[in-house]
Amino acid sequence: MSNYSEITSIVNSILKKYDLCDQCLGRLFSKQLHLSSNKFLGKKLKKNYISKSKCYVCKDLFCNLDHFLKLMLDLSSNYEFQTYGVGIIIKPSIVDRDDFIRSKYKLKGIDSIKTDISKELIKLFTKKTQKTLDSFDPEITFTVNLKDESCQLHSKSITIFGKYVKSERGYAQKQTSCDNCSGMGCRVCDFHGISEFDSVEGIISQYIFKKFGGTTTKFTWIGGEDNSSLVLGDGRPFFVKLQHPNKRKSRLTSTNLNSVKLKNLKIIDKFPKKPISFSSSVKIKISSKTTLDTHYLRKLKNMCNAPVMVYEKSGKCFEKQIFSLNYKKISSHTFSLFMKVEGGLPIRRFIEGGDVSPNISEFLNCECKCDVFDFHGVDIH
Ligand SMILES: [Zn+2]
Ligand SMILES: [Zn+2]
Repeated sequence: MSNYSEITSIVNSILKKYDLCDQCLGRLFSKQLHLSSNKFLGKKLKKNYISKSKCYVCKDLFCNLDHFLKLMLDLSSNYEFQTYGVGIIIKPSIVDRDDFIRSKYKLKGIDSIKTDISKELIKLFTKKTQKTLDSFDPEITFTVNLKDESCQLHSKSITIFGKYVKSERGYAQKQTSCDNCSGMGCRVCDFHGISEFDSVEGIISQYIFKKFGGTTTKFTWIGGEDNSSLVLGDGRPFFVKLQHPNKRKSRLTSTNLNSVKLKNLKIIDKFPKKPISFSSSVKIKISSKTTLDTHYLRKLKNMCNAPVMVYEKSGKCFEKQIFSLNYKKISSHTFSLFMKVEGGLPIRRFIEGGDVSPNISEFLNCECKCDVFDFHGVDIH
């Protein structure tokens, strides 16, 4: 059936029983006639037929698409994007009537009404904004709900890589979650999941929210430190995923945020999935309960390149390496240790002994206390 006169006879029998709008009527036949405009074809097929009631299938939904286009334009005006996608929700009764007409008149291989509404909205939106449709991985996605006349927008997350230098003691690495929502995001915390910004995480997040908008940040740190530790040298690398960003391009370099300095910031394609192996250069100040024995101190170097076993409360056990080690005796009860160690070695436990074997206290045969430890470099392998 591709003969125009055959089509005309089906059109006449449909229109005798069911009033259809130009768009819905044209859609039923445009594919077999290889035409692209359903509306134009529908108008042509209807000739002098004048509709007496609303379209049987869509109830004149197609006349109302400008309203939904406006919702999309308003909603997206606060977002920077190049590509977009559209999802549609329509009343099941519309789909049912569409299916009914198609099966009653044995019309196959045509677009569903849902597909056609999407196509029309995409046509209108692209024309208005010059943005590009991307059905697979768009930067923003609209969910247009024609049932309750609403529209939602989802903005794809971005991932930022950077390094931070912490030049002042007393800041925690991680930020405590908002009391009200435990980090899920609520009105109290402006959907950030955190309401204070007094940690490394908080300070970096605040900077990122200012630069890109968005809701919550999720960090992957390359190692961690104590509140009292400094992070010097090139700084500690981190990855941060920002949900629902308003902006997705920004000139990033380095920035000073008081006690935290951010370096090498850049937007990257993907959040790392696998654990990252790294090493840390760390300087530790240690004090001992009893007089330090120089004989043992001299032997500290022997700890290099032998495995250090770390036992966790969970029953798990892992092995870490010490790549280099130097010490400097300060007094009879204090010394400094400079080490390059495999990432993940718990420094305090390695000094004081706490299910880490060997450990410094045990090795020096005296009870040692880790007064403070600072990082002088963290290298990703
Ligand atoms: Zn219609
Ligand atoms: Zn909250």
